[in-house]
Amino acid sequence: MIELEGVEREERSMVTVFVFERHTAADCPARNEISGKIFGELGMKGQELCKKHGIKFVGAWILHPEHLIIYQYDAPSMDAYIQLEREPLMVKWRLFTDAKFKMGITMEDAMKTLAAAAIVIPAK
Ligand SMILES: [Zn+2]
Repeated sequence: MIELEGVEREERSMVTVFVFERHTAADCPARNEISGKIFGELGMKGQELCKKHGIKFVGAWILHPEHLIIYQYDAPSMDAYIQLEREPLMVKWRLFTDAKFKMGITMEDAMKTLAAAAIVIPAK
């Protein structure tokens, strides 16, 4: 881990994980009995699994016409999020989805990190 002067450890310890998850029309949980059952189970146990790994489920957005779901989580680390993905229920769900994972930080945190790294953003 890179230590940045002037940035408190707690301020940098959370990572926001965005998951862009697609499924095919055939695998859509709204019409596929097996994926629908797994999706329903995730709905019931997802919060509990997140809690187990210290992860906060922020929300999910569903774009039905594209069979796309976008999730947002706040995780203590990317490793913690990877552990969530290794849960058997998540592995079962991934058999029906194509997921891409992106990390993000808030603009405020980005500015603090840039300031601590003495990177100057030129004014326009
Ligand atoms: Zn769908």
